[in-house]
Amino acid sequence: MKLRTKIHVFTTLLMLVLIVLVNFGVYKLYEQLSINTEYKQLVLRGEELVTTFNQFQEVSDPNMVLRSYIPSNGAINVINDRGKEMTSVQSPLYDPVQMQIGKNEQYALTEVKGIPTIMIEIPAIWTNGNVVKFQLIQQLNDVAFNRDLLKLILTAVTILVAIPIILSNMVLGSIILKPLEKLNRVMSKSTTSGTYEKIDESIAGKDELAEIGRTFNHMMEALETNYRKQQQFVSNASHELKTPLTVIDSYAKLLLRRGFTNEKIAKEALDAIVSESNRMKDLIAQMLELAKNKEYVSISIGKVNLSQLLKDVTLQLKQAYNREFQLQIEPSLFVNTDEQRLKQLLYILLDNARKYSDDKIVLKAGVENNNISIAIQDFGVGIPEEQLPHLFDRFYRVKEDRNRKTGGTGLGLAIAKELSDLLQIEIIVESEINVGTTFRLMIPLNYNERNEVDSQ
Ligand code: ADP
Repeated sequence: MKLRTKIHVFTTLLMLVLIVLVNFGVYKLYEQLSINTEYKQLVLRGEELVTTFNQFQEVSDPNMVLRSYIPSNGAINVINDRGKEMTSVQSPLYDPVQMQIGKNEQYALTEVKGIPTIMIEIPAIWTNGNVVKFQLIQQLNDVAFNRDLLKLILTAVTILVAIPIILSNMVLGSIILKPLEKLNRVMSKSTTSGTYEKIDESIAGKDELAEIGRTFNHMMEALETNYRKQQQFVSNASHELKTPLTVIDSYAKLLLRRGFTNEKIAKEALDAIVSESNRMKDLIAQMLELAKNKEYVSISIGKVNLSQLLKDVTLQLKQAYNREFQLQIEPSLFVNTDEQRLKQLLYILLDNARKYSDDKIVLKAGVENNNISIAIQDFGVGIPEEQLPHLFDRFYRVKEDRNRKTGGTGLGLAIAKELSDLLQIEIIVESEINVGTTFRLMIPLNYNERNEVDSQ
């Protein structure tokens, strides 16, 4: 059974059962109240009869007195102390019936041909001075009539109410389920076709179902973008790996052909092979770094002496590359951060400054507004303004550098961006062609507390 039918059948049945129960309750309540009223009137009648009977000690024709108190469509029986009927008077339309009042009951009630019949008993003194019981019996025709009328009205009401309930449930079911069915169709299409289908009909509503539709479309968009990025990454990666492999392959062949006889060629080939395999090693290491799911990377926050850290990092680069670093660092700058990752970020930026310039590199650090600012300034080739927005994309290299053979991979700044996001550091780039480039790291001062909370 379809969900729509299930909801429809369930809600309709539930509502109908509720209506029937309520109507049945009303019916039963009315019946009980009417019988109680009739019972009280019958008791009054009986008490009046006893009073009248007692007033006339010498009643010559007791049946005459009894007759004047016969309930409409009823009878009065007089029962002696041995339980025998002494006399009985009845109205013309009375249908005789045998009844008995149960223990702890105030009256007896039975149905005769669909008409409730009630009986009460009242003790009295008979004309001969004996104790007797007057049985007053009445057929409740009015109660039966009103009860049947009420039954008719309630049945009509139930039917009248059931029709809009059934219709509204059908409409409601389709209002709720139509968008879900549409969603299901789109999802099935996506699964079978392997595409990222979206719900194209207008989903401008403000209700929850429209919200689900929008969220679904956003999710599909995100999945599609991710998929494209992944494809791009794989094709870029294979392209980047192909170049060093081709170089290694051709030099290895050269080595095979002429390397054993020509030492100069052998050296050149081995140099190239070593350099290209190193480049590949770096590339693969960087790709692995990027492939790590950053959401699950744990960062270990600690108090870092930034002034000292900057000095240490530049000293290492100075020794490795024999380059001049000019430091303008405020003393005793401390930050709460992940020291290893900050170091990694600084290495990427300082290494780029070194690779893309020949002059000195200036490193400034200090408190600026509400931030600790670290500026890495070089006086090198610079970056064209229109290429700045793409700088942090994976495998992106400034066009001019692709030819320059600086040996870059285009992954360094992509890693730097991920690291800075992880550490909540903003990176600002300013550059001018042939003047130089400055990468500025902005570490917010309240960054310390934020990171501490995040890392817990
Ligand atoms: P790469 O390994 O090529 O250096 P990056 O992602 O680190 O990769 O840098 C991307 C590109 O940005 C580089 O190829 C280069 O063209 C440019 N670039 C980065 N830093 C500088 C800089 N300090 N000066 C000039 N160009 C830079």
